[in-house]
Amino acid sequence: MADIILTGISVATGIAIGKAYFVNRNHQAHLPRHTIAASLVPGEVDRLHEAFATVEAELASIRKQVPDELKSHGLLIDTHRTMLKDPKLSGAAEEYVRTLGLNAAWALEKAVSDQEAAFGAIKDPYIRERMQDVRVVADKVQVKLIGLDNDLSAISSRAIIMAHDLTPADTVELQVDKIMGFATVRGGKTSHTGIMARSLGIPALVGVDKLEDHIHDGDLVIIDGLAGKIVVNPTETELEDYNERAANFEIYTRKIKRHCQLPAETFDGSRVQVLANIELVEEVATVIDNGGEGIGLYRTEYAYLNRIELPTEEELADKYIDLAAIMSPRKVVFRSLDLGADKFIASYGELNETNPAMGLRAIRFCLKNPQLFKTQLRAILRASAYGNVSLMFPMISGVKEVRQAKAWLAQAKAELRREGVQYDPDMPVGIMIELPAAVMIAEYLAQEVDFFSIGTNDLIQYSIGVDRTNHHVSYLYQPLHPATLRSIKLVVDAAHQAGIEVSLCGEVASDPFCVPILLGMGIDSISMTPQAIPGIKRIIRQTNMHDCRKLLKDVLGCRTVSRINNLVMDNIFKHFPEEVDFFSSLLENDESPT
Ligand code: PEP
Ligand code: MG
Repeated sequence: MADIILTGISVATGIAIGKAYFVNRNHQAHLPRHTIAASLVPGEVDRLHEAFATVEAELASIRKQVPDELKSHGLLIDTHRTMLKDPKLSGAAEEYVRTLGLNAAWALEKAVSDQEAAFGAIKDPYIRERMQDVRVVADKVQVKLIGLDNDLSAISSRAIIMAHDLTPADTVELQVDKIMGFATVRGGKTSHTGIMARSLGIPALVGVDKLEDHIHDGDLVIIDGLAGKIVVNPTETELEDYNERAANFEIYTRKIKRHCQLPAETFDGSRVQVLANIELVEEVATVIDNGGEGIGLYRTEYAYLNRIELPTEEELADKYIDLAAIMSPRKVVFRSLDLGADKFIASYGELNETNPAMGLRAIRFCLKNPQLFKTQLRAILRASAYGNVSLMFPMISGVKEVRQAKAWLAQAKAELRREGVQYDPDMPVGIMIELPAAVMIAEYLAQEVDFFSIGTNDLIQYSIGVDRTNHHVSYLYQPLHPATLRSIKLVVDAAHQAGIEVSLCGEVASDPFCVPILLGMGIDSISMTPQAIPGIKRIIRQTNMHDCRKLLKDVLGCRTVSRINNLVMDNIFKHFPEEVDFFSSLLENDESPT
């Protein structure tokens, strides 16, 4: 058996085998705490300020290498540089060296703790975020002070990075050709680290508890991004097994990628558009590289998080115009801000809701904050002059909400017209179908808009009444629940009856086993994480509509999820034997591919 097998959240799939290389260790365990003689105080104060200056200089040099497309990384590095130059933190630490005779690293720790204590009681997520930035900056200075310096750029051979956390500044330094995978203690699926791993296309896990206790520099580790595991110091047999799986994965991904630029057309000539979901504009290259035919969901809220000020219309328009122009003539569907619930922006603070998922989020939040909404609408409209741009509103629950949102859009258009600013007057406007209420009145909603996009991630949680992040009830979160399938069918039929197009952009779209059912329903496009595109296109190209319609008819006649799962698996075994072989070769015997 391996020394230990740790688990985490897989944010990028694949298998990597290599030597562990630690960066950004949690240095707190090594923090020296002692007092110094009065005669040594001036020297210690100099050392403290030198450490601040060195870290600032290093960040300044990294900042210069930040490409234009990674503006958000650049802004965060700027924030960190400002904190390093601001004498507040270094001054408070200096005070502890001078008055209590503490060594510099300890003095800085006390200065940070003071700030944490002062701000800790404040619930405002903005303040909390800033405190995290203070911590990041102080950590870097402390690492310098205690000589535990580690350097991402010093990696000489291919390695698997282990870190407590990876900051945006670190990500700029990552040399993709030297890094085979990584694992961090901190971070979630939608964290910066997760997003970056997906766009780099290397296997990665986040949220790996006790990583630093069980793995040491130079340990042989296997990152299994398929099962969400790290195998530490594997046995010969485990190593052989994983080497084989890694080779199979490599062969399969290379093979499917070879054909990813071909259209997603079934055997019998039906076309479906395969689009990508992105969170950051810089993911565009990955989309095109993986054969994405456009952007079906741009989650615009990410550009609002992780920063001090709200983005201005100019800043947004710059970013949006770039995206529209790069993708043109391919389509880009902008989703208006889906803030609220767990995604708060600094200036608006936390709303203190008992049930935030059912609270003031998405379109509700925008309609309550029209200035914020209109700034974004104007920026999207401006981008529409440069490409094939559509707009959709999230979390729509009724006809009135659509009309209100469209009224703000009309106002934004009128303003731009008066100002002589170009925009596409016919920009298609759609809504996301994410609530059971919207499903039930899809027929009315279809009269109000140009297209629907079904957000199954939320639709499943709201229709089955199960929080998708709550592990106690995760067994109930079933994409193939009869209610989910009927809802999707109802929406597709209502859209087509009204003569509008319908897309699906929840995670269901990247599940190769669900896609034949969606095709059977006659969905017009599906939008997914860019890395899933080649595999999904391959499934579509091996399918014929007759089989898909037959499968759909059968699953709609089922009363239980397990019966539907069986039919879906039978279908896969019957029509996609190569996929079955592939998945079995990657997974352990006791795990099913779903
Ligand atoms: C969805 O709800 O399915 C969706 C695509 O939106 P998000 O995951 O951003 O909530
Ligand atoms: Mg959603």
